[in-house]
Amino acid sequence: MTGFNRRTAVATLGALAMLSAVPALAQDYPTRAITIIVPFAAGGPTDVVTRLVSEHMSKTLGQPIVVENVVGAGGTTGATRAARATNDGYTLIMGHVGTHAASVALYPKLAYDPRTDFEPIALINGAAIVVAAKKDLPPKDFKEFVAYLKANEAKLNQAHAGVGAVSYITCELLNGIVGIKPVGVPFQGTGPAMNALVAGQVDYMCDQITNVVPQVNGGTIKAYAVAIPERSASLPDTPTSAEGGLPSYQASAWNALFAPKGTPKAIVEKLNAAAAKALDDEKVIARMKELGNDIPKPEQRKSEALGKLVKDEVEKWGKFLKPVG
Ligand code: ASP
Repeated sequence: MTGFNRRTAVATLGALAMLSAVPALAQDYPTRAITIIVPFAAGGPTDVVTRLVSEHMSKTLGQPIVVENVVGAGGTTGATRAARATNDGYTLIMGHVGTHAASVALYPKLAYDPRTDFEPIALINGAAIVVAAKKDLPPKDFKEFVAYLKANEAKLNQAHAGVGAVSYITCELLNGIVGIKPVGVPFQGTGPAMNALVAGQVDYMCDQITNVVPQVNGGTIKAYAVAIPERSASLPDTPTSAEGGLPSYQASAWNALFAPKGTPKAIVEKLNAAAAKALDDEKVIARMKELGNDIPKPEQRKSEALGKLVKDEVEKWGKFLKPVG
């Protein structure tokens, strides 16, 4: 074989290998550990739900799933990292209504667009928002709490997980209805924010029920109201916002899995199927429900349904939130 021919043969073999590598990549996926970015601190609601669901997904997919907490800027630091990650199915993100909807309105220079820079994989949960306060805050019930907010606005500290976090946007909604502007105290997630609430270092916050149930059961904080139409079976003694005299305060959150834009469709489908299977597992369902989470119905779990939800939510929050800074 001449040098020319040898080179040609090597080049041809290389091209063939590349051609067959494309379908093999998706077919064999996953062949190594997958990372799910949680854009908030460990121990918070996004982290808890991610670890619960990913443990089951890992069994289905036959590979470990590593949860990486990439914190900062109300979850947008982690979401930016995920949007820029290699789109091979090995880096995913557990986003939520903040990172993947409300942030668009809050950050005019957001480094990603949740509508176009991700492949939606699956909606994972719905979670009511609970208005929680430190144990020794004086008001006895939600009505008194609202009056207390009005009377003590200047000296109240409201914890949140950064501009764009669920705890930020849903308390903005509450504060707007009540007509107050308390001092906001940012944390890297509502895991650490909850620790501060338990320690009495901050006065109140609005958080996913997931994070509130264990504390209410342990008697470490007060839960004044759930901001959904009916009481939650996980917090049966906590009245609704309507029962507490503020029916216009309705707020809930969701978490969902996303992959960077351009992740092969076959991989997205595999991940979607693994997520859906986790949400059908009795143990996963029992723990999710114990923590007050709603499990999305099969039609809500589809990738396309999540894509539509993101678009609708960006629009919804855009009507209410103004750019910050
Ligand atoms: N629930 C938090 C928030 O967005 C974030 C977290 O999961 O810690 O407010």
